Amino acid sequence: MLDINKVRADFPILSRTVNGKPLVYFDNGATSQKPQIVIDAISKYYQEINANIHRGVHTLSQLATDAYEISRGKLQNHINAKYAHEVIFTSGTTHGINAVANGFASLLKPGDEVLVSALEHHSNIVPWQMLCEKTGATLKVIPMNEKGELIMAEYDKLLSDKTKIVTVNHISNALGTVNPIKYMIDKAHEFGAAILIDGAQAVPHLKPDVQALDCDFYVFSGHKMCGPTGVGILYGKEDWLNKLPPYQGGGEMIKEVTFEKTTYADLPHKFEAGTPDVAGGIVLGTAVDYMNSIGFDNIQQQELELLEYATKRLLEIEGLKIFGTAKEKTSVISFNIEGIHPYDIGTIVDKLGIAVRTGHHCAQPIMNYFDVPGTIRASFSFYNTKEEIDIMVEAVKKAQLMLA
Ligand SMILES: *Cc1c(COP(=O)(O)O)cnc(C)c1O
Repeated sequence: MLDINKVRADFPILSRTVNGKPLVYFDNGATSQKPQIVIDAISKYYQEINANIHRGVHTLSQLATDAYEISRGKLQNHINAKYAHEVIFTSGTTHGINAVANGFASLLKPGDEVLVSALEHHSNIVPWQMLCEKTGATLKVIPMNEKGELIMAEYDKLLSDKTKIVTVNHISNALGTVNPIKYMIDKAHEFGAAILIDGAQAVPHLKPDVQALDCDFYVFSGHKMCGPTGVGILYGKEDWLNKLPPYQGGGEMIKEVTFEKTTYADLPHKFEAGTPDVAGGIVLGTAVDYMNSIGFDNIQQQELELLEYATKRLLEIEGLKIFGTAKEKTSVISFNIEGIHPYDIGTIVDKLGIAVRTGHHCAQPIMNYFDVPGTIRASFSFYNTKEEIDIMVEAVKKAQLMLA
C-alpha cells in the first residue's frame, strides 16, 4: 500500500497554492510533477559533472558519459529491451515518432499503406501524413466505437499485404482507453507489417515489456513519468534500427566523414546526432528508479481507486457526460456539462486552484467523432487523493451554478 502522505511529501510543488488555494493538480496527462530526488539530480549534474559526452578523454567527460550510459541501461532494463543499443535517447515522443516516420520514407512507394488509429495524438498522426505525402503511400484509419475503443474487426479488415506500418498508442491521452496492443502487434506481423507503439501515456502507469509485446518500435517521453522535459526514448528492434536511415545528420552519429562520403556510427549513436540533453538523459534514469521504488502495482491500485471514485462522484452532477467509457481504461476522465463550454469550466476551477486540461487534447479527430469542441480532462496520478477529487467535484458544481 502507498503511504500517500509520504509520497506527496516527495513532490514539493504539491504543497504550493494557486490563486490562494491549495493546488489540486489533475493535468498529469499533459505532464507529471517531479519528485525532489529528480529536481536534485538535475542540479547535482550541473554542479558536479557537467561535460559533453562520448568526446573528451578528460575525467568529467568520462563521468558524464558513464552516467549517461548507466541511465540507458536502466531504461533498457525498465522496458526489457534485448540490447542497450536498441534504446535511443530522443527529445521526447514526438521526436521518436518523427525519426521512425522519416526513416520509412526510404521504404515506401505509392500503393503502400500506413494504418493509424482513430485515437491518436496529433504527434502520431501528422508525421505519418507527411510520410504519405512524400512517398505516395495511403493513410488508413482504424475506427473506434462510442465507448472510445478501437474496433478490432475493422482493424483485421484493413490489414493486407499493402500494409507496411501500423501505429497506435498504448493508452489514449484524450480518453484513457487502453488499447489491445498485443493483439494488434501479432496481427500486424502476420501481414509482415511493422508496428510502432506510442507509449507516452502508458509509461506513467505501467512497465512495458517490449520483448514480450514483440513491438518493432516503442516511444515515450520522460516528462510524463516524473522525469524532466526535453528527453524521451525511442526503442526499436535492432534489425529495424539498422535498416532505417538516420533521422538527423551531425556530430556523434558518424564513423567517418569526408566530402565524398560519410559512414554512419553504430547503434545507438546513428540516431543520436548532436549534443543531447545530457542532464535529462541521466535524470530520466533517476525518475525510473523513483517510480520503481513506489512500485507499479501500488501506482495502478491507487490510480484505479481514484478513477472509480471520480467517475462515481462526477456522474452525480446533472447533465455531465463522460467521453471514453472503454472497459480497459486508465485514470483519465474526459467530460462535458450540457450547455456549458469546457473552457468556461476550466477557467472557473482554475480560480479555485484546480488544474485540469480543457480543449481538444491534441486529438481533434476524437473531438470531431463525438461532435464536441473539446472536453474537460482530469487525469490522475498516484500522488493524487480522493479529497482532491471531492474538491474538484464541488468546484465543478459551483461553476455549473454560475454558468447555467
Ligand atoms: C503527450 C503525448 C504525445 C506527445 O508527447 P511529447 O512529449 O509532446 O512529444 C504523444 N502521444 C501521446 C499519447 C501523448 O500523450
